[in-house]
Amino acid sequence: SPRLRPLVAGNWKMHGLREALPEIAKTCAAAAGGGAGEAELVICPPATLIMAAAAICEGSPVAIGGQDCHSAPSGPFTGDISAEMLKDAGASYVILGHSERRSGHNEGDESVREKACAAFRAGLTAIVCVGETKAEREAGEALPTVGAQLTGSIPNSSASEGLVIAYEPVWAIGTGLTPTPHDIAEMHRFIRARINDHLPGQGDKIRILYGGSVKPDNAAELMAVDDVDGFLVGGGSLTFKDFMAIAGVY
Ligand code: PEP
Repeated sequence: SPRLRPLVAGNWKMHGLREALPEIAKTCAAAAGGGAGEAELVICPPATLIMAAAAICEGSPVAIGGQDCHSAPSGPFTGDISAEMLKDAGASYVILGHSERRSGHNEGDESVREKACAAFRAGLTAIVCVGETKAEREAGEALPTVGAQLTGSIPNSSASEGLVIAYEPVWAIGTGLTPTPHDIAEMHRFIRARINDHLPGQGDKIRILYGGSVKPDNAAELMAVDDVDGFLVGGGSLTFKDFMAIAGVY
């Protein structure tokens, strides 16, 4: 498939007080200086920091994203944030269906799909996460598990500009473990074919990120794997130094 512009997205999860904002400013400066090569950068801080982060990144090559959204534009949903609110705060991306939300907040594929529709409605690019558990991989079920998540989570109306897929094996998140390059290549090839079935002709245009224990010392090997169009990075995105070392492989 043709090479797509790589995307390196940082997921800060529930980490970061205002005192962490200089990490974002330093990332912007490094990216403006060419430190991320040809990669596009996105930082997804906690919602409390989105407005400040977006103000810092304005005019820089770094975009800001949310970590989840509600499917409705507004309403009686205490504690939730809509895609329109993320957009209004300065975000242009949103992570959806992260395994920590699928397991910790009981999010299923249908809910992820509705949220992706909300993201499109608000003009955000959705980063839809999929990935198998350790038990599913050991049972030989990794591909069908991810295939079912994709079919269930991706709206039929998706346009390639508005959608990014992140393959994040649950057992690789925050564990220091990663699949072999062979297994990542097999899964990414499978995901691309599935997208093409679901959204005819778009499989070669949608970026498929790898996520799960991407660090400065394994990023170069992982970026070289076929069909890996960038990374979704958790722990390695919290400091400017590690995040730029990872993005710098591009
Ligand atoms: C993630 O949660 O999206 C992730 C990839 O985490 P980590 O890089 O810390 O494994």
